[in-house]
Amino acid sequence: MTQKPFSIAIDGPAGAGKSTVAKAVAEALGAVYLDTGAMYRTVGLFMHEKGFDSIADIADSVGEANIGVEFMEGRQHMFLDGADVTEAIRSPEASMLASKVGGVAQVRTRLVELQREFAQGHSVVMDGRDIGTDVLPNATLKIFLTASCEVRAERRFQELAQKGVEESYDQVLREIIQRDYNDMHREVSPMRQAEDAIYVDTSLLTVQDAVNRIVEEAEKRGVKRV
Ligand code: C5P
Repeated sequence: MTQKPFSIAIDGPAGAGKSTVAKAVAEALGAVYLDTGAMYRTVGLFMHEKGFDSIADIADSVGEANIGVEFMEGRQHMFLDGADVTEAIRSPEASMLASKVGGVAQVRTRLVELQREFAQGHSVVMDGRDIGTDVLPNATLKIFLTASCEVRAERRFQELAQKGVEESYDQVLREIIQRDYNDMHREVSPMRQAEDAIYVDTSLLTVQDAVNRIVEEAEKRGVKRV
C-alpha cells in the first residue's frame, strides 16, 4: 500500500548539514528533497546581475525574476532566465546576497508560494530557515538542525576548499556569524526553532547518525522507509 503524502521540515543555520542530511532522509523515505536556500540564492543572483541593491528595488522587481527548479538525475538544478545557475549560486558572495534578499517580504511571499505548491500531492523533505514555522506549519515532522559556529565554519571551509574557492577559515567563520545574525534578526520570518520541532545538534554526530535520528522520528509518526 502506498503511504499518504508526508512532509518533513528541516530548518537551521548555515553549515549545520541540512542539505546533506535532508537529501539522505528523502532518499530513505522515498520523498522529494527541496533545497529552498537555492531559491533565495537564485533571487540574490538575479538582483546582483540587474544591479538592484536597495530593499525597495528588490521588492519591486522580484516578480520579474524568471526562476526555474528542475530535477535532473536526482539533483536539484536552479535556472535563472533559462540559464543553469546551480553552481554559480554556491559562491560566498551568493550566500550573502541570498541572506539579503531573504529579508525582503515580497521575496519571501513569492518563494513561499512556490514552495507550498511544490509540497502539494507528494511527499517532501524541505530544508531552509522558515519551513517549520511558516512554509509548512502542519509538517508531519519538524527538525531544527544545528551545530556550533566553529564546526559549521570548518565544514563550509572544507566544502569551499574542495571546490577550489580560496577563503580563510576566519573569513568563513565571520560570514557564518553574520549570516546567522541576519537570518535571526530580520523582521519577516526570522530563523527560529518551531515550538514543535525536534532540536538536533550535529556538532558531534556523523551524517548517518543525524539521518538515522530523523528517520526514526519520522517512523514514530507513521512514515515508512522505502
Ligand atoms: O540554506 P542556504 O545557506 O543555501 O541559504 C542561503 C540563505 O537564504 C540563508 O542565509 C537565508 O538568508 C536564506 N534562506 C531563507 N529562508 C529559507 C532558506 C534560505 O531566508 N527557507
